[in-house]
Amino acid sequence: SGNSQCSSGLHIVHIAAEMAPVAKVGGLADVVAGLGKALQTKGHLVEIVLPKYDCMQLDQITNLKVLDVVIQSYFDGNLFSNNVWTGTVEGLPVYFIEPQHPSKFFWRAQYYGEHDDFKRYSYFSRAALELLYQSGKKIDIIHCHDWQTAFVAPLYWDIYATRGFSSARICFTCHNFEYQGTAPAPDLSYCGLDVEQLDRPDRMQDNAHGRINVAKGGIVYSNIVTTVSPTYALEVRSEGGRGLQDTLKMHSRKFVGILNGIDTGTWNPSTDRFLAVQYSATDLQGKAANKAFLRKQLGLYSEDASQPLVACITRLVPQKGLHLIRHAIYKTAELGGQFVLLGSSPVPHIQREFEGVADQFQKNNNIRLILKYDEALSHCIYAASDMFIIPSMFEPCGLTQMIAMRYGSVPIVRQTGGLCDSVFDFDDETIPVELRNGFTFARTDEQDLSSCLERAFSYYSRKPMVWKQLVQKDMQIDFSWDSPASQYENLYQSAVAQARGAAQT
Ligand code: ADP
Repeated sequence: SGNSQCSSGLHIVHIAAEMAPVAKVGGLADVVAGLGKALQTKGHLVEIVLPKYDCMQLDQITNLKVLDVVIQSYFDGNLFSNNVWTGTVEGLPVYFIEPQHPSKFFWRAQYYGEHDDFKRYSYFSRAALELLYQSGKKIDIIHCHDWQTAFVAPLYWDIYATRGFSSARICFTCHNFEYQGTAPAPDLSYCGLDVEQLDRPDRMQDNAHGRINVAKGGIVYSNIVTTVSPTYALEVRSEGGRGLQDTLKMHSRKFVGILNGIDTGTWNPSTDRFLAVQYSATDLQGKAANKAFLRKQLGLYSEDASQPLVACITRLVPQKGLHLIRHAIYKTAELGGQFVLLGSSPVPHIQREFEGVADQFQKNNNIRLILKYDEALSHCIYAASDMFIIPSMFEPCGLTQMIAMRYGSVPIVRQTGGLCDSVFDFDDETIPVELRNGFTFARTDEQDLSSCLERAFSYYSRKPMVWKQLVQKDMQIDFSWDSPASQYENLYQSAVAQARGAAQT
Protein backbone atom coordinates (compact mmCIF):
# COMPACT_ATOMS: atom_id res chain seq x y z
CA SER A 1 0.00 0.00 0.00
CA GLY A 2 2.73 2.44 1.04
CA ASN A 3 4.71 1.68 -2.11
CA SER A 4 2.53 3.83 -4.34
CA GLN A 5 5.15 6.27 -5.53
CA CYS A 6 3.83 9.65 -6.58
CA SER A 7 5.44 11.63 -9.40
CA SER A 8 7.70 13.60 -7.08
CA GLY A 9 8.45 10.48 -5.03
CA LEU A 10 12.09 9.87 -4.26
CA HIS A 11 13.97 6.58 -4.17
CA ILE A 12 15.58 6.56 -0.73
CA VAL A 13 17.90 3.85 0.60
CA HIS A 14 18.96 3.69 4.26
CA ILE A 15 22.19 1.82 4.96
CA ALA A 16 22.38 1.08 8.68
CA ALA A 17 23.68 -1.26 11.35
CA GLU A 18 20.30 -1.45 13.17
CA MET A 19 16.60 -1.43 12.45
CA ALA A 20 13.72 -2.02 14.90
CA PRO A 21 12.46 -4.57 15.63
CA VAL A 22 14.72 -7.04 13.74
CA ALA A 23 18.09 -5.76 14.88
CA LYS A 24 17.81 -3.31 17.78
CA VAL A 25 20.40 -2.09 20.23
CA GLY A 26 19.24 1.50 20.81
CA GLY A 27 17.52 4.59 19.44
CA LEU A 28 19.17 4.26 15.99
CA ALA A 29 17.04 1.19 15.31
CA ASP A 30 13.85 3.12 16.07
CA VAL A 31 14.86 6.01 13.81
CA VAL A 32 15.58 3.81 10.79
CA ALA A 33 12.22 2.05 11.09
CA GLY A 34 10.19 5.10 12.15
CA LEU A 35 11.62 7.53 9.60
CA GLY A 36 11.51 4.87 6.88
CA LYS A 37 7.83 4.12 7.48
CA ALA A 38 6.89 7.81 7.60
CA LEU A 39 8.68 8.54 4.31
CA GLN A 40 7.02 5.54 2.69
CA THR A 41 3.64 6.86 3.82
CA LYS A 42 4.47 10.18 2.16
CA GLY A 43 4.80 8.34 -1.16
CA HIS A 44 8.53 7.70 -1.44
CA LEU A 45 10.15 4.38 -2.35
CA VAL A 46 12.13 3.47 0.77
CA GLU A 47 14.51 0.53 1.04
CA ILE A 48 16.83 -0.52 3.86
CA VAL A 49 20.17 -2.37 3.71
CA LEU A 50 21.30 -4.23 6.85
CA PRO A 51 23.91 -6.85 7.70
CA LYS A 52 22.49 -10.36 8.05
CA TYR A 53 23.29 -10.89 11.73
CA ASP A 54 23.02 -14.39 13.20
CA CYS A 55 21.35 -12.85 16.29
CA MET A 56 18.55 -10.97 14.43
CA GLN A 57 14.89 -11.44 15.39
CA LEU A 58 14.02 -13.56 12.33
CA ASP A 59 10.37 -13.80 13.40
CA GLN A 60 10.03 -10.07 12.69
CA ILE A 61 10.79 -10.56 8.95
CA THR A 62 8.16 -11.64 6.45
CA ASN A 63 8.99 -13.38 3.15
CA LEU A 64 12.66 -13.79 3.95
CA LYS A 65 14.42 -15.39 1.01
CA VAL A 66 17.86 -15.52 -0.54
CA LEU A 67 18.33 -14.02 -4.01
CA ASP A 68 19.87 -15.99 -6.88
CA VAL A 69 22.50 -13.34 -7.54
CA VAL A 70 25.71 -13.25 -5.56
CA ILE A 71 27.37 -9.85 -5.12
CA GLN A 72 31.14 -9.69 -5.26
CA SER A 73 32.65 -6.95 -3.16
CA TYR A 74 36.20 -5.75 -2.54
CA PHE A 75 38.00 -6.11 0.78
CA ASP A 76 41.70 -5.99 1.63
CA GLY A 77 42.99 -6.81 -1.84
CA ASN A 78 40.45 -9.51 -2.73
CA LEU A 79 36.90 -9.97 -3.95
CA PHE A 80 34.46 -11.82 -1.67
CA SER A 81 31.01 -13.18 -2.43
CA ASN A 82 27.96 -11.98 -0.54
CA ASN A 83 24.60 -13.68 -0.38
CA VAL A 84 21.78 -11.18 -0.49
CA TRP A 85 18.52 -11.88 1.35
CA THR A 86 15.33 -9.89 0.99
CA GLY A 87 12.37 -9.57 3.30
CA THR A 88 9.80 -7.16 4.65
CA VAL A 89 10.08 -5.56 8.07
CA GLU A 90 7.26 -3.31 9.31
CA GLY A 91 6.11 -3.02 5.69
CA LEU A 92 9.52 -1.85 4.47
CA PRO A 93 11.62 -3.78 1.92
CA VAL A 94 14.95 -4.77 3.45
CA TYR A 95 18.13 -6.26 1.93
CA PHE A 96 20.28 -8.33 4.27
CA ILE A 97 23.91 -8.81 3.26
CA GLU A 98 25.57 -12.07 4.26
CA PRO A 99 29.32 -12.01 3.57
CA GLN A 100 31.08 -15.19 2.52
CA HIS A 101 34.24 -14.02 4.25
CA PRO A 102 36.35 -16.30 6.48
CA SER A 103 36.09 -13.80 9.36
CA LYS A 104 32.31 -14.45 9.62
CA PHE A 105 31.78 -10.74 10.23
CA PHE A 106 28.10 -10.90 11.27
CA TRP A 107 28.12 -14.35 12.81
CA ARG A 108 29.19 -13.30 16.30
CA ALA A 109 26.04 -13.71 18.44
CA GLN A 110 26.04 -9.93 19.14
CA TYR A 111 25.70 -6.73 17.16
CA TYR A 112 28.59 -4.58 18.40
CA GLY A 113 31.57 -4.70 20.69
CA GLU A 114 33.77 -7.03 18.64
CA HIS A 115 37.52 -6.36 18.41
CA ASP A 116 37.22 -5.92 14.63
CA ASP A 117 34.11 -3.67 14.46
CA PHE A 118 36.01 -1.24 12.23
CA LYS A 119 36.70 -4.01 9.69
CA ARG A 120 33.20 -5.49 10.01
CA TYR A 121 31.44 -2.23 9.20
CA SER A 122 33.86 -1.01 6.54
CA TYR A 123 33.26 -4.37 4.84
CA PHE A 124 29.49 -3.92 5.17
CA SER A 125 29.51 -0.33 3.87
CA ARG A 126 31.47 -1.38 0.77
CA ALA A 127 29.26 -4.43 0.11
CA ALA A 128 26.06 -2.39 0.55
CA LEU A 129 27.18 0.19 -2.02
CA GLU A 130 28.28 -2.58 -4.37
CA LEU A 131 24.77 -4.09 -4.12
CA LEU A 132 23.14 -0.76 -5.00
CA TYR A 133 25.61 -0.17 -7.86
CA GLN A 134 25.11 -3.62 -9.38
CA SER A 135 21.33 -3.42 -9.03
CA GLY A 136 21.35 -0.60 -11.61
CA LYS A 137 18.71 1.30 -9.63
CA LYS A 138 18.46 5.02 -10.01
CA ILE A 139 18.61 6.07 -6.39
CA ASP A 140 18.02 9.67 -5.27
CA ILE A 141 19.14 9.54 -1.64
CA ILE A 142 21.50 7.19 0.18
CA HIS A 143 21.08 7.81 3.92
CA CYS A 144 23.77 6.40 6.21
CA HIS A 145 23.73 6.39 10.02
CA ASP A 146 26.49 6.67 12.63
CA TRP A 147 30.13 5.80 12.02
CA GLN A 148 29.35 2.17 11.19
CA THR A 149 27.99 3.16 7.78
CA ALA A 150 29.62 6.61 7.38
CA PHE A 151 32.25 4.87 5.18
CA VAL A 152 29.53 5.05 2.52
CA ALA A 153 30.03 8.80 1.97
CA PRO A 154 33.72 8.79 0.92
CA LEU A 155 33.32 5.40 -0.82
CA TYR A 156 30.46 6.74 -2.91
CA TRP A 157 32.26 9.85 -4.15
CA ASP A 158 35.75 8.37 -4.50
CA ILE A 159 34.89 4.99 -6.02
CA TYR A 160 31.28 4.70 -7.23
CA ALA A 161 30.41 8.16 -8.56
CA THR A 162 33.37 7.93 -10.95
CA ARG A 163 31.93 4.67 -12.33
CA GLY A 164 28.79 6.46 -13.49
CA PHE A 165 26.72 5.56 -10.40
CA SER A 166 26.20 9.20 -9.58
CA SER A 167 22.46 9.87 -9.35
CA ALA A 168 22.40 9.81 -5.55
CA ARG A 169 22.99 12.47 -2.92
CA ILE A 170 24.34 11.31 0.42
CA CYS A 171 22.77 12.07 3.81
CA PHE A 172 24.63 11.21 7.04
CA THR A 173 22.92 11.22 10.44
CA CYS A 174 25.03 11.10 13.59
CA HIS A 175 22.96 9.80 16.50
CA ASN A 176 25.65 10.30 19.17
CA PHE A 177 28.99 12.10 18.75
CA GLU A 178 30.48 10.07 21.59
CA TYR A 179 31.02 7.24 19.08
CA GLN A 180 33.08 8.29 16.03
CA GLY A 181 34.79 5.14 14.75
CA THR A 182 38.53 5.70 14.79
CA ALA A 183 41.36 3.34 13.82
CA PRO A 184 45.02 3.43 12.76
CA ALA A 185 45.07 5.30 9.44
CA PRO A 186 46.21 2.31 7.30
CA ASP A 187 43.05 0.36 8.31
CA LEU A 188 41.01 2.65 6.07
CA SER A 189 42.45 0.91 3.01
CA TYR A 190 40.70 -2.42 3.74
CA CYS A 191 37.50 -1.17 2.10
CA GLY A 192 39.38 0.34 -0.84
CA LEU A 193 39.63 3.95 0.31
CA ASP A 194 42.82 5.85 -0.50
CA VAL A 195 44.57 6.48 2.83
CA GLU A 196 47.04 8.96 1.37
CA GLN A 197 44.24 11.11 -0.02
CA LEU A 198 42.05 10.92 3.07
CA ASP A 199 44.53 11.12 5.95
CA ARG A 200 44.45 14.93 5.95
CA PRO A 201 43.13 17.33 8.60
CA ASP A 202 40.37 18.65 6.31
CA ARG A 203 39.29 15.11 5.34
CA MET A 204 39.33 12.04 7.59
CA GLN A 205 42.33 12.55 9.85
CA ASP A 206 41.53 12.14 13.55
CA ASN A 207 42.87 14.51 16.22
CA ALA A 208 44.77 11.59 17.76
CA HIS A 209 48.08 11.08 16.00
CA GLY A 210 48.14 8.48 13.23
CA ARG A 211 44.43 7.75 13.37
CA ILE A 212 41.55 8.10 10.99
CA ASN A 213 37.97 9.14 11.94
CA VAL A 214 34.98 7.74 10.05
CA ALA A 215 32.29 10.08 11.46
CA LYS A 216 34.47 12.93 10.21
CA GLY A 217 34.44 11.35 6.74
CA GLY A 218 30.64 11.19 6.95
CA ILE A 219 30.51 14.92 7.66
CA VAL A 220 33.03 15.98 5.02
CA TYR A 221 31.76 13.75 2.19
CA SER A 222 27.95 13.96 2.60
CA ASN A 223 25.58 16.44 0.93
CA ILE A 224 23.37 16.58 4.02
CA VAL A 225 24.51 16.05 7.62
CA THR A 226 22.01 15.80 10.46
CA THR A 227 21.84 14.99 14.12
CA VAL A 228 18.86 14.13 16.28
CA SER A 229 17.82 17.45 17.86
CA PRO A 230 18.36 21.18 17.24
CA THR A 231 19.90 21.83 20.67
CA TYR A 232 22.33 18.91 20.34
CA ALA A 233 23.27 20.29 16.90
CA LEU A 234 24.32 23.51 18.69
CA GLU A 235 26.08 21.70 21.53
CA VAL A 236 28.23 19.61 19.17
CA ARG A 237 29.53 22.78 17.52
CA SER A 238 31.49 23.25 20.80
CA GLU A 239 32.61 20.76 23.50
CA GLY A 240 29.76 18.34 22.76
CA GLY A 241 31.40 17.63 19.39
CA ARG A 242 34.11 15.55 21.08
CA GLY A 243 36.80 16.87 18.74
CA LEU A 244 34.62 17.22 15.65
CA GLN A 245 33.44 20.79 16.47
CA ASP A 246 35.77 22.45 13.96
CA THR A 247 34.73 20.08 11.19
CA LEU A 248 31.07 20.72 12.01
CA LYS A 249 31.59 24.48 12.02
CA MET A 250 33.39 24.27 8.67
CA HIS A 251 30.44 22.32 7.21
CA SER A 252 27.70 24.07 9.19
CA ARG A 253 25.73 25.10 6.08
CA LYS A 254 24.77 21.52 5.37
CA PHE A 255 24.36 20.53 9.05
CA VAL A 256 21.01 20.58 10.89
CA GLY A 257 19.38 19.05 13.96
CA ILE A 258 15.99 17.36 13.56
CA LEU A 259 14.17 16.08 16.64
CA ASN A 260 13.34 12.36 16.37
CA GLY A 261 9.75 11.17 16.55
CA ILE A 262 8.42 8.12 18.37
CA ASP A 263 6.44 5.23 16.94
CA THR A 264 2.96 6.32 17.98
CA GLY A 265 1.54 2.95 16.92
CA THR A 266 3.71 1.01 19.36
CA TRP A 267 3.43 3.69 22.05
CA ASN A 268 -0.30 4.26 22.34
CA PRO A 269 -2.00 3.92 25.75
CA SER A 270 -5.42 3.46 24.14
CA THR A 271 -4.36 0.29 22.27
CA ASP A 272 -1.30 -0.93 24.21
CA ARG A 273 -1.72 -4.69 24.82
CA PHE A 274 0.92 -4.72 27.57
CA LEU A 275 -1.31 -2.61 29.83
CA ALA A 276 -3.75 -3.95 32.41
CA VAL A 277 -6.27 -1.37 31.19
CA GLN A 278 -6.09 0.87 28.12
CA TYR A 279 -6.81 4.57 28.60
CA SER A 280 -6.73 7.96 26.93
CA ALA A 281 -6.49 11.65 27.77
CA THR A 282 -10.27 11.88 28.06
CA ASP A 283 -10.52 8.77 30.24
CA LEU A 284 -7.83 8.72 32.91
CA GLN A 285 -9.54 6.07 35.08
CA GLY A 286 -7.48 3.47 33.27
CA LYS A 287 -4.25 5.21 34.22
CA ALA A 288 -5.13 4.91 37.91
CA ALA A 289 -5.91 1.22 37.35
CA ASN A 290 -2.46 0.66 35.82
CA LYS A 291 -0.87 2.35 38.80
CA ALA A 292 -2.72 0.11 41.26
CA PHE A 293 -1.84 -2.93 39.18
CA LEU A 294 1.89 -2.13 39.00
CA ARG A 295 2.02 -1.46 42.74
CA LYS A 296 0.59 -4.89 43.41
CA GLN A 297 2.90 -6.52 40.89
CA LEU A 298 6.02 -4.92 42.40
CA GLY A 299 4.95 -5.10 46.05
CA LEU A 300 4.76 -1.35 46.53
CA TYR A 301 2.20 -0.74 49.27
CA SER A 302 0.34 2.48 49.85
CA GLU A 303 -2.54 3.66 52.01
CA ASP A 304 -3.08 6.46 49.56
CA ALA A 305 -3.94 5.67 45.93
CA SER A 306 -2.83 9.13 44.91
CA GLN A 307 0.66 8.91 46.48
CA PRO A 308 2.86 10.08 43.57
CA LEU A 309 4.80 7.43 41.65
CA VAL A 310 8.07 8.56 40.04
CA ALA A 311 9.71 6.41 37.36
CA CYS A 312 12.96 6.15 35.46
CA ILE A 313 13.62 3.76 32.54
CA THR A 314 17.14 3.87 31.19
CA ARG A 315 20.42 2.27 30.25
CA LEU A 316 22.60 2.79 33.32
CA VAL A 317 25.61 4.53 31.75
CA PRO A 318 27.41 7.75 32.83
CA GLN A 319 25.65 9.75 30.06
CA LYS A 320 22.36 9.29 31.92
CA GLY A 321 23.49 11.09 35.11
CA LEU A 322 23.90 8.15 37.48
CA HIS A 323 24.57 10.21 40.63
CA LEU A 324 21.37 12.19 39.98
CA ILE A 325 19.32 9.05 39.36
CA ARG A 326 20.53 7.73 42.73
CA HIS A 327 19.76 11.08 44.36
CA ALA A 328 16.25 11.15 42.84
CA ILE A 329 15.49 7.84 44.57
CA TYR A 330 16.42 9.21 48.01
CA LYS A 331 14.75 12.57 47.41
CA THR A 332 11.49 10.94 46.28
CA ALA A 333 11.46 8.84 49.44
CA GLU A 334 12.07 11.97 51.52
CA LEU A 335 9.18 13.79 49.81
CA GLY A 336 6.82 10.89 50.51
CA GLY A 337 6.58 9.52 46.99
CA GLN A 338 7.24 6.11 45.48
CA PHE A 339 10.00 5.33 42.96
CA VAL A 340 10.48 2.67 40.29
CA LEU A 341 13.72 2.30 38.36
CA LEU A 342 13.87 -0.04 35.35
CA GLY A 343 17.41 -0.11 34.05
CA SER A 344 20.35 -2.27 33.18
CA SER A 345 23.99 -1.58 32.62
CA PRO A 346 26.53 -2.96 30.17
CA VAL A 347 29.18 -1.90 32.72
CA PRO A 348 29.59 -4.58 35.46
CA HIS A 349 30.62 -2.24 38.31
CA ILE A 350 27.65 0.07 37.62
CA GLN A 351 25.26 -2.87 37.57
CA ARG A 352 26.72 -4.04 40.92
CA GLU A 353 26.46 -0.56 42.42
CA PHE A 354 22.75 -0.34 41.62
CA GLU A 355 22.21 -3.89 42.89
CA GLY A 356 23.56 -2.56 46.17
CA VAL A 357 20.98 0.23 46.17
CA ALA A 358 18.23 -2.27 45.27
CA ASP A 359 19.19 -4.49 48.25
CA GLN A 360 19.14 -1.52 50.58
CA PHE A 361 15.47 -0.85 49.68
CA GLN A 362 14.34 -4.47 49.46
CA LYS A 363 12.07 -4.17 52.49
CA ASN A 364 10.97 -0.61 51.74
CA ASN A 365 7.35 -0.29 50.60
CA ASN A 366 8.06 2.73 48.43
CA ILE A 367 11.14 1.96 46.33
CA ARG A 368 11.78 -0.72 43.68
CA LEU A 369 14.77 -1.14 41.40
CA ILE A 370 14.38 -3.67 38.58
CA LEU A 371 17.80 -4.10 37.06
CA LYS A 372 17.15 -5.73 33.71
CA TYR A 373 15.89 -4.95 30.22
CA ASP A 374 12.15 -5.66 30.05
CA GLU A 375 10.08 -4.27 27.17
CA ALA A 376 6.68 -5.37 28.56
CA LEU A 377 7.37 -3.97 32.02
CA SER A 378 8.54 -0.67 30.49
CA HIS A 379 5.06 -0.14 28.97
CA CYS A 380 3.41 -0.82 32.35
CA ILE A 381 5.72 1.66 34.11
CA TYR A 382 5.11 4.47 31.60
CA ALA A 383 1.37 3.92 32.11
CA ALA A 384 1.48 3.66 35.91
CA SER A 385 3.78 6.56 36.76
CA ASP A 386 2.86 10.17 37.54
CA MET A 387 6.32 11.63 36.93
CA PHE A 388 9.29 10.50 34.87
CA ILE A 389 12.84 11.54 35.64
CA ILE A 390 15.68 12.04 33.09
CA PRO A 391 18.73 13.80 34.61
CA SER A 392 21.14 13.17 31.69
CA MET A 393 24.61 14.72 31.50
CA PHE A 394 24.05 14.92 27.75
CA GLU A 395 21.22 13.59 25.58
CA PRO A 396 21.33 13.75 21.75
CA CYS A 397 17.54 13.37 21.51
CA GLY A 398 16.07 11.07 24.14
CA LEU A 399 12.90 9.10 23.51
CA THR A 400 11.72 8.33 27.03
CA GLN A 401 10.50 11.88 27.75
CA MET A 402 8.26 11.70 24.67
CA ILE A 403 6.96 8.21 25.49
CA ALA A 404 6.33 9.28 29.11
CA MET A 405 4.27 12.29 28.03
CA ARG A 406 2.19 10.16 25.67
CA TYR A 407 1.33 7.95 28.66
CA GLY A 408 0.54 10.93 30.91
CA SER A 409 3.70 10.77 33.03
CA VAL A 410 5.05 14.30 33.50
CA PRO A 411 8.77 14.61 32.62
CA ILE A 412 11.34 16.05 35.02
CA VAL A 413 14.51 16.54 32.99
CA ARG A 414 17.87 18.23 32.89
CA GLN A 415 18.13 20.96 30.24
CA THR A 416 20.45 19.34 27.72
CA GLY A 417 20.29 18.29 24.05
CA GLY A 418 16.95 16.97 22.80
CA LEU A 419 15.42 17.33 26.27
CA CYS A 420 15.60 21.14 25.74
CA ASP A 421 13.64 20.77 22.49
CA SER A 422 10.84 18.64 23.93
CA VAL A 423 10.35 19.54 27.61
CA PHE A 424 9.45 23.09 28.69
CA ASP A 425 9.19 24.14 32.32
CA PHE A 426 5.72 24.65 33.74
CA ASP A 427 6.82 27.76 35.67
CA ASP A 428 8.97 29.40 32.99
CA GLU A 429 7.23 32.64 32.07
CA THR A 430 9.50 33.25 29.08
CA ILE A 431 7.88 30.24 27.35
CA PRO A 432 4.34 30.37 25.88
CA VAL A 433 1.91 28.70 28.31
CA GLU A 434 0.68 26.21 25.73
CA LEU A 435 4.18 24.76 25.32
CA ARG A 436 4.86 24.22 29.03
CA ASN A 437 4.67 20.50 29.65
CA GLY A 438 7.07 19.43 32.43
CA PHE A 439 9.76 20.45 34.89
CA THR A 440 13.36 21.23 34.04
CA PHE A 441 16.60 22.04 35.84
CA ALA A 442 19.97 23.17 34.54
CA ARG A 443 22.83 22.15 36.80
CA THR A 444 24.37 18.73 37.41
CA ASP A 445 24.38 19.00 41.22
CA GLU A 446 21.87 17.32 43.52
CA GLN A 447 20.38 20.60 44.78
CA ASP A 448 19.01 21.70 41.42
CA LEU A 449 17.31 18.34 40.90
CA SER A 450 15.92 18.42 44.45
CA SER A 451 14.19 21.77 44.05
CA CYS A 452 12.81 20.74 40.67
CA LEU A 453 11.33 17.57 42.18
CA GLU A 454 9.90 19.62 45.06
CA ARG A 455 8.13 21.94 42.62
CA ALA A 456 6.59 19.01 40.78
CA PHE A 457 5.44 17.37 44.05
CA SER A 458 3.97 20.64 45.19
CA TYR A 459 1.76 20.98 42.10
CA TYR A 460 0.82 17.32 42.29
CA SER A 461 -0.42 17.47 45.88
CA ARG A 462 -1.67 21.06 46.18
CA LYS A 463 -3.16 21.65 42.74
CA PRO A 464 -4.63 18.34 41.55
CA MET A 465 -6.82 19.96 38.89
CA VAL A 466 -3.88 21.87 37.41
CA TRP A 467 -1.90 18.63 37.42
CA LYS A 468 -4.67 16.73 35.69
CA GLN A 469 -4.83 19.32 32.93
CA LEU A 470 -1.05 19.08 32.52
CA VAL A 471 -1.29 15.29 32.18
CA GLN A 472 -4.03 15.59 29.58
CA LYS A 473 -2.12 18.22 27.64
CA ASP A 474 1.06 16.09 27.60
CA MET A 475 -0.86 13.06 26.30
CA GLN A 476 -2.13 15.05 23.32
CA ILE A 477 1.21 16.42 22.07
CA ASP A 478 2.09 15.12 18.60
CA PHE A 479 5.42 13.27 18.86
CA SER A 480 4.84 11.19 15.73
CA TRP A 481 7.36 10.92 12.87
CA ASP A 482 5.10 12.96 10.61
CA SER A 483 6.73 16.35 11.17
CA PRO A 484 10.37 15.16 11.42
CA ALA A 485 9.89 13.07 8.25
CA SER A 486 8.70 16.23 6.42
CA GLN A 487 11.87 17.99 7.49
CA TYR A 488 14.04 15.16 6.12
CA GLU A 489 11.92 15.17 2.97
CA ASN A 490 12.62 18.89 2.45
CA LEU A 491 16.36 18.36 2.90
CA TYR A 492 16.32 15.45 0.43
CA GLN A 493 14.27 17.40 -2.12
CA SER A 494 16.56 20.41 -2.09
CA ALA A 495 19.72 18.26 -2.35
CA VAL A 496 18.18 16.42 -5.32
CA ALA A 497 17.05 19.70 -6.93
CA GLN A 498 20.54 21.15 -6.50
CA ALA A 499 22.07 18.08 -8.12
CA ARG A 500 19.67 18.27 -11.08
CA GLY A 501 20.31 22.00 -11.43
CA ALA A 502 24.05 21.38 -11.47
CA ALA A 503 23.64 18.61 -14.06
CA GLN A 504 21.80 20.97 -16.42
CA THR A 505 24.40 23.74 -16.41
P1 ADP B 1 19.31 5.65 24.51
O1 ADP B 1 19.13 5.42 23.03
O2 ADP B 1 20.46 6.54 24.87
O3 ADP B 1 19.33 4.38 25.30
P2 ADP B 1 16.66 6.80 24.37
O4 ADP B 1 15.86 7.60 25.36
O5 ADP B 1 16.88 7.41 23.03
O6 ADP B 1 18.04 6.45 25.07
O7 ADP B 1 15.96 5.38 24.12
C1 ADP B 1 15.75 4.47 25.17
C2 ADP B 1 14.73 3.40 24.76
O8 ADP B 1 15.07 2.16 25.38
C3 ADP B 1 13.32 3.72 25.21
O9 ADP B 1 12.41 3.14 24.28
C4 ADP B 1 13.22 3.01 26.56
O10 ADP B 1 11.88 2.67 26.90
C5 ADP B 1 14.05 1.77 26.30
N1 ADP B 1 14.70 1.21 27.49
C6 ADP B 1 15.81 1.67 28.13
N2 ADP B 1 16.13 0.87 29.18
C7 ADP B 1 15.20 -0.11 29.20
C8 ADP B 1 14.99 -1.26 30.06
N3 ADP B 1 15.80 -1.55 31.07
N4 ADP B 1 13.93 -2.06 29.80
C9 ADP B 1 13.11 -1.77 28.75
N5 ADP B 1 13.25 -0.73 27.92
C10 ADP B 1 14.29 0.10 28.14
